[in-house]
Amino acid sequence: MAFNVLTAEFLHETNTFSVRKTDLSAFETYTFLIGNDQLNSFEGTNTGVAGCLDCARKFDWNMRHAVTAHAGPSGLVTTAAFDTIANLILDAARTSPPDGVLLPLHGAMVAEFCEDGEGELLQRLRDVIGPDIPVAITLDLHANVSVKMCELADIIVSYKTYPHIDMREAAAHAGSILQRAMLGEISPTTLRVHCPMLGEANGGRTDIGPMIDRLERARAYEREPDVFAVSINAGFEESDITEIGPTVLVTHQGDDALHRAFAETIADDIWMKRDEVLNTYYSVEEAAAIAADFVRTDGPLIIADYADNPGGGAYGDSTALLNALLKTGVTNSCFGPMVDPAAADDLHQHSEGETITLDLGGKTDPHFGGGPITVTGQILRLSNGECIGDGPMKGGQKLHFGKTCVLHVDGIDILVVSEAVQMYDQQQFRGFGIDPTSKTVVALKSMQHFRAAFEPIAENVIVCDSGALCTTDVAKLPYQNVPRPIYPLDPEMTRYG
Ligand SMILES: [Zn+2]
Repeated sequence: MAFNVLTAEFLHETNTFSVRKTDLSAFETYTFLIGNDQLNSFEGTNTGVAGCLDCARKFDWNMRHAVTAHAGPSGLVTTAAFDTIANLILDAARTSPPDGVLLPLHGAMVAEFCEDGEGELLQRLRDVIGPDIPVAITLDLHANVSVKMCELADIIVSYKTYPHIDMREAAAHAGSILQRAMLGEISPTTLRVHCPMLGEANGGRTDIGPMIDRLERARAYEREPDVFAVSINAGFEESDITEIGPTVLVTHQGDDALHRAFAETIADDIWMKRDEVLNTYYSVEEAAAIAADFVRTDGPLIIADYADNPGGGAYGDSTALLNALLKTGVTNSCFGPMVDPAAADDLHQHSEGETITLDLGGKTDPHFGGGPITVTGQILRLSNGECIGDGPMKGGQKLHFGKTCVLHVDGIDILVVSEAVQMYDQQQFRGFGIDPTSKTVVALKSMQHFRAAFEPIAENVIVCDSGALCTTDVAKLPYQNVPRPIYPLDPEMTRYG
């Protein structure tokens, strides 16, 4: 029997401290594709949509894809943008009533009018399709999962990797559970256990540290009878909302007491290891001093600015690290991205080869990561900012950064872009004429995702905190709505208050 399955992707990670609201144009700039027409372009990519397509083929679904809407992490989603995208999904559900629904979501969307964007979307969907049609969703490992999301979605599967390299797999897993639910073989529901913390100690990184063991235990538990998926979400810290923090979810059927007890053991471990931070977060001065002393033998020193990560909603225009590196006089180095559309516009008024002086970066909010710096450099490359990724996360995907320029200032090739995207893929340098493998120092903006493409070429990797909007010093962020006590703002508390 061919089931009608409604699919849609609505992805946003909202940094509620960002002054940049996320309107419809932010989705249009990133990814906003309506209907089935452009599904082919997702075939085989590491995306939720590709996982939906895998299921459609495997289970012979009649798949109706309402929309793929994805904006880069930024401030509150506007009411108009939320309603427009939600209505595309609701209209599709009305015109072609589905047997099941599969939605790749992020799970940390906050709208102007509502803290729980995904809960609201699911509520509106349930109002159309009723309580009985099975709904499956996938979530980012950095989801802040609400009680409502678990009540309204029967099936939840989160990514299990950070760097995230299993988006397609997560959707395929959720779709396979959905198929069994549509066949009437199972009646899944999802339970949630929560930790009173802003986030897991290491942001959920899965390459090293305690998440590896937790995920192994979760995989083993998925082999228990009537257990279909176990998800461990690290939470997303840069969100001033009530239901923030790490969660453990078990999608199961039947009596939940046993499964809840298992989820509690994982949550306990997240709580017990709340102080076990794996990264050393250097100041920009310390990072620059390490760069100045670095002698390259078989690869570059990679310096990641954790705090100015556009992937966490930071502006990407922090100047603190660049300024410190310029002062040390490092040579044969590159830095990127510097997100500054005004500077990119300015540079595009000139020609390749010209030397110009301009104010760079620091324009959005100098309190976080430093104000503009005046630099003089030669324009090496002007570009429309398009390239095709070739790394583990973005391989085969078209990437775009708006007007882009490579400006050579003293010893540093600076990648100036217009759209705020973190450094995921070597092509983000290479596509614009910078070969990171040949550099002595590669400074980039990303917390953890850069490791997938850049660790293999690195001689050494260090992480610094420039004081930008994703600073690890959370006391600097003006939280008002998170429930108190909460760790680490209230360090003396216990897990239960
Ligand atoms: Zn994430």
